[in-house]
Amino acid sequence: MAGRNFLFVPGPTNVPERIQRAMMVSMEDHRSPNFPHLTHTIMAGLKDIFRTKEGTPFIFPSSGTGCWEAALTNTLSPGDKVLAARFGQFSHLWIDMCQRLGLDVHIVECEWGTGVPLQQFADILKNDTQHQFKAVLACHNETATGVTSDIAGVREALDDAAHPALLFVDCVSSLGCVDFRFDDWGVDMAVSGSQKGLMLPAGLGILCVSPKALAMHKTATLRRAYFDLQDMLQSNATGYFPYTPALPLMYGLIESMKMLSEEGLDNVYARHHYLAEGVRAAVTQGWQLKLCAAEAKWHSDTVTAVMLPAGIAGTDVIARAYRRYNLSLGGGLSKVAGKLFRIGHLGDMNEVHLMAAINGAEMAMLDCGVEVQPGSGAAAAGNYWRQHAAPSGLGAPVINKEEHAKHRISGQAILKS
Ligand SMILES: *Cc1c(COP(=O)(O)O)cnc(C)c1O
Repeated sequence: MAGRNFLFVPGPTNVPERIQRAMMVSMEDHRSPNFPHLTHTIMAGLKDIFRTKEGTPFIFPSSGTGCWEAALTNTLSPGDKVLAARFGQFSHLWIDMCQRLGLDVHIVECEWGTGVPLQQFADILKNDTQHQFKAVLACHNETATGVTSDIAGVREALDDAAHPALLFVDCVSSLGCVDFRFDDWGVDMAVSGSQKGLMLPAGLGILCVSPKALAMHKTATLRRAYFDLQDMLQSNATGYFPYTPALPLMYGLIESMKMLSEEGLDNVYARHHYLAEGVRAAVTQGWQLKLCAAEAKWHSDTVTAVMLPAGIAGTDVIARAYRRYNLSLGGGLSKVAGKLFRIGHLGDMNEVHLMAAINGAEMAMLDCGVEVQPGSGAAAAGNYWRQHAAPSGLGAPVINKEEHAKHRISGQAILKS
């Protein structure tokens, strides 16, 4: 096959060559005296990404889902009440796991395309004067619908009710892409994984735990073994792991954290927003289609879910994009299956790379009978990007600073001068 596959599913994401090379390592003894250096470097770097001084990061050889389980089983007991909202496949699956583990989930059903319902959460927590809820679950970025929720708002709801429940946040598809503040938002458990914003293959579950949540370990009686934080904490303290760690992924993670800190986390977030705005322009202004996200406040900067007109099967568009154009788009999951397709724009990404997804999706839609104006998606995205100054992570590597600075200004400004 000539050319490359264009990977635009919202995880796994594209692994930069730098990270691929960093993972090409010979295996080494994970009990060697040199090994703690690697562990300590990773844990310090993760604290920066979670923006925490208080929290303790953990890595498990698992996918993100494993850390959902770690978060629940290390802090809760059978029958404990937890509060959660269901508005997409991932918020649904976390609820499903809670139920399978024997927790009593108070589910707030929400329209898919909306996010955490702050007012309802605030009311429920205020009315819970007996403090029966032990934890509140929030999916920061619902990858199935392209919806980002306001985690600071959930913290406010807890504080306004003076409620002591733990705040658990799924940030699998937002960490390293969208502003996340473990300490400022008073998060108790942040759950993530390696294959989304961190630009690695799947295989590392990543967790950050507050001192309050860590203390719950003593009284929590849900069964846990592999994911027991106490075992991990003890080994990590000396720089080791209770079992064989995923070594190449750890070297990859160090390289990933280097890349994020070179660009600067705030610039990384700004780049994701800028790229996402271009994609949204392609969808709404170019193609005249609707986003699954119901309101601008829910817009996700990591994934865009595009609603297709009635009568068009999303599965056909996705199959056409893949088979004919070697372009991988995300599908609709569960309740929205067949009704939409998703473009992942998280991780290692720039404007021209995204143009491949916009043009490829447009060709596939036209082939499947969607009446969009040919070229309209790229025109709208291009206009957006050319009219806005690019965040500093974009463009060629900086060698000549002055030359580079000239091109940093927006296309619009160049056109006017
Ligand atoms: C991908 C994803 C998960 C699941 O992570 P795995 O690594 O596949 O286990 C959970 N939540 C969200 C929001 C996700 O995007």
